[in-house]
Amino acid sequence: MADIKTNLNAILSQIPENVQLVAVSKTKPNEDIMEAYEAGQRVFGENKAQDLVTKFDTLPKDIEWHYIGHLQTNKVKYLAPFVHTVEAVDSIKLLKEINKKAKSHNRVINCFLQFHIATEESKFGYSYKEVEELLNSEAYKAFEHIQIAGVMGMGTFTDDMEAVRKEFKTLKGYFDQLKKDFFSDDENFKEISMGMSNDFAVAIEEGSTQVRIGSDIFGARNY
Ligand SMILES: *Cc1c(COP(=O)(O)O)cnc(C)c1O
Repeated sequence: MADIKTNLNAILSQIPENVQLVAVSKTKPNEDIMEAYEAGQRVFGENKAQDLVTKFDTLPKDIEWHYIGHLQTNKVKYLAPFVHTVEAVDSIKLLKEINKKAKSHNRVINCFLQFHIATEESKFGYSYKEVEELLNSEAYKAFEHIQIAGVMGMGTFTDDMEAVRKEFKTLKGYFDQLKKDFFSDDENFKEISMGMSNDFAVAIEEGSTQVRIGSDIFGARNY
């Protein structure tokens, strides 16, 4: 069995203080999450709405939950009462639903815009042009219960770290451009969520402010 506390501290020693660690606990039981919690970790990521609701209900309430997967609009209502950040927003329809449900709970929910930066076809996410259109739309300007707090992307799953580095550079470039063109007065637009167990060191070198790490902390997942 993996020693979660040892793994967590090993990861933390490789992450600068200004980079936030999201401990990706998907598929892992509450006992594992509590080991990381007791070692001081408070930010966790999940990618199944039902699992996230169950974990929220049964684990300490000071955990900051990030939803890191592709979110279907019909699941937003389950997460809206408590989710801190929806990391992978990839449609205006989803943003609209998050705004609506956040409003009904009198909350503001952080959202990251997910960009498609990998070469794989299957991955979700926006192009830069699509995001410009979104941010210029009247619909977007009317949303009062969402905060676009940053961008998120996943590198190609490969051992070729120079290819992944290029993808992370692209995401950093998108962030900088959006900051300049749309969010220059908005100090809450500040996060670049990139880097997982296999590529977080490169992501940090390329400007990541938030890494999402699962297997290096909790061990391999068995689905
Ligand atoms: C599973 C997952 C991670 C963590 O992956 P590891 O390789 O286990 O670190 C990070 N981000 C997203 C979006 C994920 O789905």
